[in-house]
Amino acid sequence: ANLKMEEIVSLCKRRGIIFPSSEIYNGFAGFFDYGPLGSELKRNVKDAFWKAFVHEREDVVGIDSSIIHNPTTWKSSGHLDGFSDPMVDCRETKLRYRADQLYCSPVVLEECGSTVGFVCVLEGNDEDMVKEAKAQANRLLKEKEKKGAIQPFQFKDLTQVTEEEMAQIPSPGSNKPTLTMPRDFNLMFQTNVGAMQDASSVAYLRPETAQGIFINYKNVLASSRIKLPFGIAQIGKAFRNEITPRNFIFRSREFEQMEIEYFIPPGDEDVWKPYHEKWIADSKAFLEQVGLREELMGYDVHEGDGLAHYARACTDITFKFPFGVQELMGIAARGDFDLKSHSEGSGKVLDYFDEETKEKFIPHVIEPSLGVDRLILALICSAYAEDEINGEKRSYLSFHPSIAPVKVAVLPLVKNKEPLVKAARELYEKLKKRWNVQWDQTGAIGRRYRRADEVGVPFCVTVDFETIESDGAVTVRDRDSTEQVRIPMDEVVPYLSKMIDG
Ligand code: ATP
Repeated sequence: ANLKMEEIVSLCKRRGIIFPSSEIYNGFAGFFDYGPLGSELKRNVKDAFWKAFVHEREDVVGIDSSIIHNPTTWKSSGHLDGFSDPMVDCRETKLRYRADQLYCSPVVLEECGSTVGFVCVLEGNDEDMVKEAKAQANRLLKEKEKKGAIQPFQFKDLTQVTEEEMAQIPSPGSNKPTLTMPRDFNLMFQTNVGAMQDASSVAYLRPETAQGIFINYKNVLASSRIKLPFGIAQIGKAFRNEITPRNFIFRSREFEQMEIEYFIPPGDEDVWKPYHEKWIADSKAFLEQVGLREELMGYDVHEGDGLAHYARACTDITFKFPFGVQELMGIAARGDFDLKSHSEGSGKVLDYFDEETKEKFIPHVIEPSLGVDRLILALICSAYAEDEINGEKRSYLSFHPSIAPVKVAVLPLVKNKEPLVKAARELYEKLKKRWNVQWDQTGAIGRRYRRADEVGVPFCVTVDFETIESDGAVTVRDRDSTEQVRIPMDEVVPYLSKMIDG
């Protein structure tokens, strides 16, 4: 089922997955809090990544670096000079926008071919954008008391327009031409370290986890027995002072990343390309494994202008979010840009000594980078489902058991028969040692199933009269199919373990 963004935001709040941050103080744009279910979901997603890419591989190790690095790190990495987005200001409303996410198109009257103004619309998927543009163009024409056919819209973003054109472009929300020319806005959050509040104490919250890996490259190499090719993974918070945080947790100012730097021998395309392709395939397989629906995923191969100057290649894995197809994760072949920059910046040569060939060189790198929160949004969109059971509408979250916040709900059929409740309670005690499980004894059994479905609990185990009086077995109900199987009490753990942990 397709949900609108507002519906997802409201579902997340109602079910305790994600709340706006500091809500009692009217929130704080670009920040979010994970609730009881969301924090479990997030933990599971990060564990799944770590398991797939660190524990299950012999060639990847993990680190957990500090969030604030020596500020020279950001000089060497290029972030201080170049980690910025083009920004325009609206003089009228005092609002700021990302110039590359604001699109404009001239309004041309077909009969005389003259330009009567520009429409300017916010980022959106194409259909919404054209609809909004048409409405704006009509308002503009009405205002100028002109009527006529409008030429098809040819959008360009505000980084592409001339000063003369800019002078005509109305700000979003007002029809006056009041936007400044784009200028660079650095996205790093600044802070001061130590008691001095001057330029000498300025430091930055990391805008990505990757640099913490590069600056630890030598330490990891010297302390582990790892040999090229090998990877270093890190999961952790990143901060970006996004000009326009939007689309819920898709683009926030504080988020988490799961990144790997995979070091490979230097060389041309024939060397790095197979590694790059393998990482794209492995990343895609991981996303499917945690339950993203295949048909909602795609690829975006960066070429030409779309490729960062230091990158050899970059492929994004995209996801069809309710607001359009967008980047979910990026897999870049970055050459030796990073290790070289940090070698120059630090004066410590970040090279590799190949014992077999006795050669020293700076490795190249493949970088898979995935946002935890962005993946969580994709997982929620992917999992939301509606159907009908016995004529009753049901909405549920079909999370993959490995990432489901609650794995099992234990339900005693009735709550006033002591031996039955006791048997259920014993099972619950046993299961909660292994997984996050839920105890629910109130309400009709159908209602309790529905409640579990809503938060994506994959299995409900019901203890009934037969359990204690005759067969010593329980009913295990599957969330998606609603099918029930009867399983002997002492086989419940192995059964669930196969279903949940694979
Ligand atoms: P965008 O172009 O959308 O700003 P980016 O290309 O700058 O993103 P990267 O720097 O490649 O993104 O970051 C790697 C990953 O981190 C992204 O694929 C995304 O999953 C996640 N990410 C980046 N910025 C944000 C953000 N502001 N909020 C949530 N996740 C983010």
